[in-house]
Amino acid sequence: MPTCDFFAPGYASAREKFLSAAEAAGAKLSAHALPEQRGPEGEPLCIDVAVLGAEQPPEAMLLLISGTHGVEGRCGSGIQVGYCVDQLHSNLPPGTATLLIHALNPYGFAWHRRVNEDNIDLNRNFRDFSAPLPDCSAYEAIHDCLVPESWDGHSRLEADRELQRRIVACGIPAYQAVLQRGQYTRPTGLFYGGTQACWSNRMLRRLLREHIPASTTRLAVLDIHTGLGPLGYGEPIYAQDSVEGLERARRWFGPEVTSIASGPGDAGPQSGDVGEARSASAAVSGALVTAFQELDQALEVTYLALEFGTRPILDVLGALRADSWLHAIPDRVTPHRGPIQNQMQEAFHVDTPGWKAAVYGRTADFVLRAGRGLAEG
Ligand SMILES: [Zn+2]
Repeated sequence: MPTCDFFAPGYASAREKFLSAAEAAGAKLSAHALPEQRGPEGEPLCIDVAVLGAEQPPEAMLLLISGTHGVEGRCGSGIQVGYCVDQLHSNLPPGTATLLIHALNPYGFAWHRRVNEDNIDLNRNFRDFSAPLPDCSAYEAIHDCLVPESWDGHSRLEADRELQRRIVACGIPAYQAVLQRGQYTRPTGLFYGGTQACWSNRMLRRLLREHIPASTTRLAVLDIHTGLGPLGYGEPIYAQDSVEGLERARRWFGPEVTSIASGPGDAGPQSGDVGEARSASAAVSGALVTAFQELDQALEVTYLALEFGTRPILDVLGALRADSWLHAIPDRVTPHRGPIQNQMQEAFHVDTPGWKAAVYGRTADFVLRAGRGLAEG
């Protein structure tokens, strides 16, 4: 199967490809359906889980996650299909099992949205909701411009002008950081983190408890994302808060591993400074990596978000803005629906054989690097 055929045009076909490739690879499969929701073709929306190579209780595990941000799942799903077809698992050291979590946010995947069924950004939802919320005032100041009442006419023009004025005044990195860090006050807004743990959040934590046995002492995680950084480049982003962990990630995966603590809008080294590379991602609140902190303290977790570049950042943020506007009113009747859904897909997936070859090859290489790291400990 050529690499570009690993990738499907939508959720239903991606799921079919994944289940058939995982079954052919001898994986143990289980499905978890999202209650009360269906996809555009009436299909059930499921998180599928495949376990490979676990005849014995494994000492080490590799976890690959696709579709944390629904629409980005086309990329991650294709990679997981390739993982099964090319039997990348056979490159891991003995005693290592693979856990593939397909379509962690199946609703967003099926409906071409980055967020879930409640407009929640899953990668901002893993926080202690009983603790005080982070300051959302910078986002509050621009929410009405981001999500104007109308997508046409005077109010849209005014909103665009105001946003443009702010971007010129503060610069693109600071604008990106204000949006990307996550907000908890506007349920119809961008990068909304929710008010409680959502279904995908609860499911992920349950799946980790169920599938990582006590015998496992080392876990490597590759959480596949798209939308930030140069076209086709896969930036390995270390998102945990541990100096020792960052050092280990760089030992395993190379010096190109960036830390989310030094991204756009942060006070870290500026590009051009001697020192470490800046991440294409700003620091975020409520990141998914938090789920791993609940696991057995003896389990050593090395988590990377592998972030593949698609389009220029303002195009990507523009698509998210349009998507938020479209869904700010349930079942909004508008001729913009189809074009906005296409805009979202184009912002988070590049439908060329070259891009798919780049993202698959890069991840296959990182699987081998993870294997060497897990063997070395
Ligand atoms: Zn993402």
